[in-house]
Amino acid sequence: MPADPDCIFCKILQGEIPSTRIAETERAIAFMDINPGTAGHALVIPREHSTDLLDIPAEDLHACTDLAREIAARAKDRLGADGVNLLNCCGEDAWQSVFHFHLHVIPRYKDQPDKDDLRLPWVPTPGDMDDIRATGEKLA
Ligand code: 5GP
Ligand code: ZN
Repeated sequence: MPADPDCIFCKILQGEIPSTRIAETERAIAFMDINPGTAGHALVIPREHSTDLLDIPAEDLHACTDLAREIAARAKDRLGADGVNLLNCCGEDAWQSVFHFHLHVIPRYKDQPDKDDLRLPWVPTPGDMDDIRATGEKLA
């Protein structure tokens, strides 16, 4: 899909909005998130505009995943991250606020609350096994 004139990430790609670019490949680029969840929070996007996970062509998704892995490795090597979360929000009700596909690459730091005070957004609690099986059957 060509660039969307109303899309802030397309504007970042075209240099109309400044960004701190950290990596680029033929199909994807990575840049720093301006509202970092932890130290080193980066975003990986395809060069071609796609709205979300369900819309992005496989080649672009692969390119973004590969580049996100590269940034994750750099976060461990160069920032001393202890781990990394990859996050994708698909849809407004799943926290998506920019509708150009992106992967969040979120470095994680053990016992360093100045760099990382994230918490799991749900409380792991055993579910009802009948419900789990019935829902799994719908997805199988
Ligand atoms: P979403 O909420 O869609 O999963 O993530 C969108 C991300 O884009 C947010 O983390 C937000 O901080 C980031 N973001 C929004 N506008 C800009 C911008 O102009 N520049 C950069 N670098 N990041 C942005
Ligand atoms: Zn776009």
